[in-house]
Amino acid sequence: MQIIIAKNAGFCFGVKRAVDIVEKELGKKEKVYCLGQLIHNRQVIERLEEKGLVTVENMEDIPDGAKFVVRSHGVAPEVVEKIKAKYGNSLDATCPFVRRAQLTAENFYLDGLDVVICGDSQHAEVIGINARTKNSATIISDPGEAKYLEFKKTVGVLSQTTQKAELLKSTVNNLLEKNKKIIIENTICLDSSTKQAEVSALAKEVDIMIIVGGKNSSNTGKLVQLSEAQKIPTYHIEKSSELQKKWFGNIKKIGIAAGASTAKFLIDDVVDKINELC
Ligand code: SF4
Repeated sequence: MQIIIAKNAGFCFGVKRAVDIVEKELGKKEKVYCLGQLIHNRQVIERLEEKGLVTVENMEDIPDGAKFVVRSHGVAPEVVEKIKAKYGNSLDATCPFVRRAQLTAENFYLDGLDVVICGDSQHAEVIGINARTKNSATIISDPGEAKYLEFKKTVGVLSQTTQKAELLKSTVNNLLEKNKKIIIENTICLDSSTKQAEVSALAKEVDIMIIVGGKNSSNTGKLVQLSEAQKIPTYHIEKSSELQKKWFGNIKKIGIAAGASTAKFLIDDVVDKINELC
């Protein structure tokens, strides 16, 4: 039996940066508060929480003067203003690629364009991006919807950073049915597109795929979809204890990929557990 791990499995630049920022601060034995999850991986968050990270759902739950960190997915500008006023000493772990998508949306809006975001309307990153358009953007998760949309002004299209390129391309193609002027900025981050291409290629050469990552992680979910599209058994797990011996009967090649928020120790655990089971 052979195990092949996708070359870029695990932490991306933005997640590593966010974890490093927080770990450095926690090293000073100070508590650090985060509104919502710093990154979308429960196991990594739990490790950081053991060292002093505190995840809260409301800003009111953060004591005045406490050290605050803006999570990797970013937040709305109003929240940034409140943070600055309440916690002068805050840290910003917003991924620079998310920041670029936020600025793109803001510039489209300020230039008077009708803004379209390809992504998941409920995802924290998209909520933060849309806030830069005063929540006026049209958010599309199904490219089919774009066929029926007719805008009055020039359309400015951008994407959630972790979307599949296919969604962006199909959305733009469909928008062309009723709209003549479209400006596109591809804000899908390089790490997402690299991981996606690797999974599609790896899934063609193995018998099963194990995708390791948070069940609430958008980029991990896309990897699962791309692997399933190759019609091979694909299992999405968060940690090694979810692996089942019955998945590996008569299997010669196992592919492993992991989302951008998945730490190396979680991937190593999965490899060790597979070796134990097979
Ligand atoms: S997946 Fe891309 S946009 Fe998201 S945190 Fe990582 S590098 Fe940044």
